[in-house]
Amino acid sequence: MSGDNIIETKGLTKEFKGFIAVSDVDLKVKRHTIHALIGPNGAGKTTCFNLLTKFLTPSAGQILFNGKDITQAKPAAIARQGMVRSFQISAVFGHLTVLENVRVALQRVEGTSFHFWRSDECLNSLNAKAEELIEAVGVAEYRDTPAGELSYGRKRALEIATTLALDPEMLLLDEPMAGMGTEDIKRTAELIKRVSANRTILMVEHNLSVVADLSDTITVLKLGRVLAEGSYAEISKNPEVVEAYMGS
Ligand code: ADP
Repeated sequence: MSGDNIIETKGLTKEFKGFIAVSDVDLKVKRHTIHALIGPNGAGKTTCFNLLTKFLTPSAGQILFNGKDITQAKPAAIARQGMVRSFQISAVFGHLTVLENVRVALQRVEGTSFHFWRSDECLNSLNAKAEELIEAVGVAEYRDTPAGELSYGRKRALEIATTLALDPEMLLLDEPMAGMGTEDIKRTAELIKRVSANRTILMVEHNLSVVADLSDTITVLKLGRVLAEGSYAEISKNPEVVEAYMGS
């Protein structure tokens, strides 16, 4: 009905007091793909991300999600429609256990009445779902560990589990590998691949080998504009990209 593209922007532009951070960007994200947004510092990646998730309002242009115009929608409304952004680690409650963190996230999902919450039926189903999610992201063995005691990489995995509690159709990941060592990067890449089986993922990521390994499509931004788009093999052959981004 809404075609192959889950996200489509037309002429997306953001101006900050006369400075154009994102300029006339037409972005198409295909359903059930992993799509990366890359570019040198100041390219407009974060601004783009904030525009898509409605943390910023565009100065001009249009954003379609599943063919529906969400240009003026609020972040909470976008989340309800199935587009969820990974939150930062601060959203994980350090004093709660891994399992409790996911249960809290599940309880936040709207449409669950207070009386239902208190029933055994609900508690059992919440627990089962929470166990499933921590298993899926690979932190099941830490189920009773306070989240504050987890390694950085496992906290990020837990963060993804809390995001998956909303059962999003599309997940936006802001530098999912930032600050991680090799082992955590490998584990997180596997997790992203698994999660992408029935979802669309859009990520901003600086680690090019991760981008090359995971992405179906890559959009390269430079000074707020789209410089190139394609598979890693395609963009890495583009001389402009090599010069702007990988030149050194
Ligand atoms: P990237 O994430 O690719 O490094 P950003 O989207 O953070 O790039 O920034 C793009 C440009 O917009 C930068 O030059 C930055 O200084 C500018 N910028 C970002 N946010 C603001 C803001 N709130 N006010 C003014 N300028 C901003």
